[in-house]
Amino acid sequence: MIGFSKHRLLPEPESVYAALGMRADTEPALKVTELLNRALEIYKTLSEARDVLEPISKSEFAALYSGQGLNAPETPLGLIFPRAERLLLFAFTLGAAISREIERLFKSNDFALASMLDTVASLAADNAGREAESWVARQGGADQFGTHFLKVLLYSPGYCGWHISGQKKLFEFLRPERIDIHLNERFLMIPLKSISGVLVAGAADIHQIAERYPFCDHCQSPACRERGMARAV
Ligand code: SF4
Repeated sequence: MIGFSKHRLLPEPESVYAALGMRADTEPALKVTELLNRALEIYKTLSEARDVLEPISKSEFAALYSGQGLNAPETPLGLIFPRAERLLLFAFTLGAAISREIERLFKSNDFALASMLDTVASLAADNAGREAESWVARQGGADQFGTHFLKVLLYSPGYCGWHISGQKKLFEFLRPERIDIHLNERFLMIPLKSISGVLVAGAADIHQIAERYPFCDHCQSPACRERGMARAV
């Protein structure tokens, strides 16, 4: 367990506005800032921050990663994890109460506040992934050359060719049910504001990918570039 402060995970207003599609050079209307403040207050009241973390060997992860045989034939993680120094399975949740409140707001047609709270919670969960990466990097440890880990990135089922059904084996190994995260029949995590995956620690260049994969054509959020997975061109 890492142990997060939910307050540290709060997204910056600029990130929330950007996620909602607002231009960075546009001053948000008073109504929008009031909505954001209400959403942040609900987040502070209703969210929790719970996580589980387990080291896993490369051979164990190789078996886990094969999942149900539905991954893309070639994936970035398939090339990256064999070169890692450490692998840790990770899951995090903001808890059930905030997801229930988002659902209630949508059902009661308060779409503006529901969307704002949904965005705040999604960004906070993403921030937990970034915090987990930093936490593992701070634990130190040296690679075979005696230098400290340079880069830790979280890779998750459902992204970059790792089929979403990979959640099944990940859950069997990590048991996130311990912190009340469960999988539904479509391998989605319940509560929805949860994240899971493998933290891959190693030299920075193991994360760099030069290839463009067939599934990249359908990628809605090419996070590889901002996360330093892709080589600069
Ligand atoms: S473009 Fe999308 S799918 Fe392709 S490697 Fe980058 S993040 Fe993964």
